[in-house]
Amino acid sequence: MTNLTHKTALVTGGSRGIGAAIACRLAADGADVAFTYRSARADAERVSAQIEAHGRRALAIAADSADRGALEAAVAQTAAAFGRIDVLVHNAGIFLTGEIGAVDLADLDQLLAVHVAAPVVATRAALQHMPAGGRVISIGSCLAERVPGAGMSLYAMSKSALTGFTKGIARDLGPRGITANVVHPGPVDTDMNPADSEHADAQRGLLALGRFGQAEEVAAMVAFLAGDGGRFVTGASITVDGGHNA
Ligand code: NDP
Repeated sequence: MTNLTHKTALVTGGSRGIGAAIACRLAADGADVAFTYRSARADAERVSAQIEAHGRRALAIAADSADRGALEAAVAQTAAAFGRIDVLVHNAGIFLTGEIGAVDLADLDQLLAVHVAAPVVATRAALQHMPAGGRVISIGSCLAERVPGAGMSLYAMSKSALTGFTKGIARDLGPRGITANVVHPGPVDTDMNPADSEHADAQRGLLALGRFGQAEEVAAMVAFLAGDGGRFVTGASITVDGGHNA
């Protein structure tokens, strides 16, 4: 466990999957946790109850990451409720595919809005409320480094953008004592990528460990980076991918 007592966090896309596991893990480690979601209100209420079961404050905010105003308002609402934001996790994500010749340009807009613009917007807004010792953690993808099949160019491009963004803001924010890192998960069993889907065995075949990850295994890395042990790690891209990119 990491000691996050008296810390506050905002996780985007925290109603399900990896984001929900991150929200719950940060609360288990002692943080008050706000999180956004797009539409899954019942799931969000369940996550809030899990956070509160750890004795921590929960704040669930319906905010589409593609809507810059809504995202900025979610940051402001978190800061108003908790007084500051120590840990910001860019997790909200979508998986859209298509071979480049036939790709839908609306998908391009959506991927860039949610995976690229939203972290910029949320980071910029959250920095007004982030003290020294703050953490900015993005959830990328192992596909940012290795694309093992067709149809994933836009998704991979949007996730690899987080690597450059993270290196850049690590330089901007280092003087303030704030770190920035990106965690690249491999296949993780969630609604986005179920371990029993028709594509699952092919993915397992690419993994050194031969199995899908659990959302909690990504959350453990995020908790480490959020905690004191992560204080000298910044600008880093860290794979939690079962050896997908080995
Ligand atoms: P899920 O689809 O299981 O959950 C996605 C979460 O993000 C939900 O809480 C969803 O909210 C929220 N969300 C999606 N779009 C938006 C939006 N526009 N605005 C606000 N919230 C949004 O995904 P995972 O948990 O699997 O993925 C989490 C992150 O990890 C993503 O960035 C994904 O790209 C990345 N990733 C996942 C991998 C995997 O194998 N699962 C592998 C590598 C990276 P709601 O419930 O309201 O829809």
